[in-house]
Amino acid sequence: MERQRLTLEIIHVLHRKLVETSERDPKSDCIIFSGSTQNGYGMIRKSIDNERFRLYAHQVALLHNTNMTAIPDGLQCSHLCHIKLCVNVAHLSLESQSVNNNRNMCRNERKCSRDHANSDGSSLPDCIFD
Ligand SMILES: [Zn+2]
Ligand SMILES: [Zn+2]
Repeated sequence: MERQRLTLEIIHVLHRKLVETSERDPKSDCIIFSGSTQNGYGMIRKSIDNERFRLYAHQVALLHNTNMTAIPDGLQCSHLCHIKLCVNVAHLSLESQSVNNNRNMCRNERKCSRDHANSDGSSLPDCIFD
């Protein structure tokens, strides 16, 4: 995704659109985004002061929750629940590509290996399966 001049204010505006376009599934507790998608992920597009912004919906959720304007270099916003349209911040985790790949194995097995850790050894949350 191209670099954009994101500010906390812009994240806030994008997040408002996210809230209007998503709904909690009481069964899984996933908050499902119902707007447009790209690669299966929710995509938020909005023009603000004649500038067009586009950002993945789950990234908007995480950035808004953590008061950040960008995903730190080398990290990804990955889904613990493996539901690409989910924007519940409790189901999102900032982690490396290798942990994200490791989680994909859990998704394929439909069961968490409970073996997710950062490169510094600190543990990351288990995957969530309903
Ligand atoms: Zn979820
Ligand atoms: Zn897992």
